[in-house]
Amino acid sequence: MVFSKRNIAAFLLANFFILSGKVKKVFGRASKGSFILSVYFHDPSKKLFESCVKWFIENGYSFISTEELAAVAKGQKPFPLASVILTVDDGWRGNRENIAAVANHYKIPVTIFASTQPIATGEAFWWSYIAEANKKGLVSQSVHALKKVTNEERMNIVNAVKPQLPLNREALTIEELKEISNTAFVSIGSHTVTHPILTNCSDEQSFFEIRESRKILEEWLQKEVVHFAYPNGEFTTREINFLKDSGYKTAFTTNPRYITPDNFTDLYTIPRFDVLEDVSFAENICRMTGVWFNKPTF
Ligand SMILES: [Zn+2]
Repeated sequence: MVFSKRNIAAFLLANFFILSGKVKKVFGRASKGSFILSVYFHDPSKKLFESCVKWFIENGYSFISTEELAAVAKGQKPFPLASVILTVDDGWRGNRENIAAVANHYKIPVTIFASTQPIATGEAFWWSYIAEANKKGLVSQSVHALKKVTNEERMNIVNAVKPQLPLNREALTIEELKEISNTAFVSIGSHTVTHPILTNCSDEQSFFEIRESRKILEEWLQKEVVHFAYPNGEFTTREINFLKDSGYKTAFTTNPRYITPDNFTDLYTIPRFDVLEDVSFAENICRMTGVWFNKPTF
């Protein structure tokens, strides 16, 4: 945890939530089938990911896979009790040791949503070039600002600074992705080709990112790829239609809600709670169980 004022205040509030029984109540409701917990990670340390897995096990939760979730939505399986689904975005290189190895050790299903271009080329993720360019004074636009402009404008800026910033690989290699995809408890989903903000893309770009990433992953892995996560959680009905046309079965958002019997009949807007890499574990417990998302903001 980074010892900032915000994180310390959040740590105290999180402990209050835990001690006052809010987190326990979540288990009670999940045990009665009111909802499934849905949690996602990016590039956690092994310690953080393993702590989260252990916490769920010690607190009586079971794990379900994206495939099982799709089967439940279709009525092929009953709505699971006290369950959690774990997903991971981007395809970070550390996921091999920190996610896949832990998932296989504890025998719990995890889906990793990978962006294919950083894996294929060895280039860093686009926001890393912009963060670095900001540090060096090469650009004035922040990562946040570039998530608001057209995809073409963002790409022009990223491509202009790339040659001046030789960043190391951040994503898994193709071989590493294949290796973890062949392990028992990890499945691979798509997170587009270049990780654009899909809602800032033209129709052609958005469709290309959705369709092409599936094609590339299936060629690499020689397996069907039918699960998707929206980069930055951004989508419109256009993206949902492109996903359906491209043969995807589910799509995960970053909307912090429980998966309930009512909302998850729409498998293209599955909600998720995020775990953060620099906050206290107490806060992450409150985030994973959803109690965090009804709190005063810092
Ligand atoms: Zn992402």
